[in-house]
This record gives sequence, structure tokens and C-alpha cells, in this order.
Amino acid sequence: MRDSPTGRELKIARINIYHLYPEHLNLNGDRGNILALCERARWHGLAVNLVPVQPGETIDFGACDLLFMGGGGDAEQNMAAAELKKRRRDMQQAIEAGMVILATGGSYQLFGHYYTTLRGERMPGLELMDLYTEAGGKRLTGNIVVSCGLWDPPRTLVGFENHAGRTCLGKGVQPLGRVLHGHGNNGSDKTEGAVYRHAIGSYMHGPLLPKNPWLTDYLLAKALAYRGQTFTFKELDQSFEEQAHQTAVRLAGSRLHRWHARRA
Ligand code: GLN
Repeated sequence: MRDSPTGRELKIARINIYHLYPEHLNLNGDRGNILALCERARWHGLAVNLVPVQPGETIDFGACDLLFMGGGGDAEQNMAAAELKKRRRDMQQAIEAGMVILATGGSYQLFGHYYTTLRGERMPGLELMDLYTEAGGKRLTGNIVVSCGLWDPPRTLVGFENHAGRTCLGKGVQPLGRVLHGHGNNGSDKTEGAVYRHAIGSYMHGPLLPKNPWLTDYLLAKALAYRGQTFTFKELDQSFEEQAHQTAVRLAGSRLHRWHARRA
């Protein structure tokens, strides 16, 4: 690094982002979540170390601050389950210590007890979150808007969902949000996603993060805190993202737009 004028090495907060199986787990634009995490981190002035992890490679969870896994079909889910089963204990220790995870779609389903496919095949999960998934006949697809309690007052999150799986949450996890428009975890209990410590699972694709910059900042902030790094985030101009978010809310239905307008 070039010497700074004072000769002291400037301490730049750094974040290690691991992207698991990028070629295999990338449904419905999920790669966009990595772009959003890296670019927004850089806009805030963070140094980003992005580590793509291919199947078969070892994973040093001790060095990982934030792990992202995208959605995948049943075959890719099977591969990821087999790979991660070998590393389950390290993964569990890192989650208990506060490592940040965003897992979408099929990767989300992997964190539970099991996932039963439409053909009745039961795929054992990683048992890292208290939930299970069973595929149903009709796919749950479409635009989705949820009210998310990670903030007080809650904020909306918008996305696109496309899953056969119906996920039911146990007592050990909280939902990421309450469905205002769309199907969510199972199309009946109005929950969407799951949160356990700093691990977040969600069916929201699209990708999820570009239209929900507050969630991107939440994940980055939690990852820095996990590493004990104090860091002041910038006030970024996110008018473009807000506009995209509001458009998604409007697309979801005018009645919902009134809900959003009341809170703004
Ligand atoms: N194969 C899983 C399902 O259909 C997950 C799909 C996804 O990643 N959205 O439920």
C-alpha cells in the first residue's frame, strides 16, 4: 500500500465476503446480491475481499465475515447439502459466534431439518435453523412485499419469489418479515424467511438487495460488528434505490401503497 502523507498506515475497515458455489446457486438474479454487497460496501469506504467458493474447496469460516448463498434447483441443492454437511460443525460454530449469512431460496431451505421434493425425495438439511420444507404442487411465484421487524419501526422489503417449497418455522427462529403482498414461506401463515442470530434466509429473489439498500447496510454493519470493527457508514444518496423500491410496492397493489405511504 502506498505510504500515506503522515507515513502511518491508514487503517481501512475491511470485510471478507464469501460467495458459496456462485456457478451453481444463482437462480432469479441472485448474483446481484453479491454486486450490491460489494459495491455498497465500497461506496461506504470499506475495503472488500470477495472470496468465491467452488464445490470441493475448503471453507475457512473463521475468516468469513459475511457469507452469501443463492437459490438453486433441487440438483444444485443436493450438491450444496452434501458439500456443507462435511463442514456443518464449523458452520454452526461460526453462526453461533455471530457470522452473518444471507441464504436465498434453495440455500435457505438447506439450513433446516429437511426438504421434501415433489417426487417425495427427502433431502436432509444442515439442521442449522429450526425449520423444515415440503414441496407443494403449485409453485409460489410473483412479486412479494413484506414488513420487516429488523428495524423499529418496521421497514418494507420487496422481491420476487419462485418456489415449490412450503417452509414452516419452529420455535428457534423468527420470521424475516410478515407478508403484505405475495405468498412468503408457505402461502398460509403470512411469514417470510427466517432469522437466527445473524443468519437470514429468504425466498425473496430479484435480486433481493438492490431494491432494499437498508438490508444491505444491515448485513454489512452486523458483519463489521462481528469482527469488532467500529465504522461510520456514509449517508449515501439512495434515491434511485428508493424509487425502485416504491415502484415494486406500487406494482404489488395500490392498497399496499397506501400502507407504505402512511408509514413514510
Ligand atoms: N428448488 C426449491 C423450490 O422450488 C428452491 C427454489 C429457489 O431457489 N427459489 O422450492
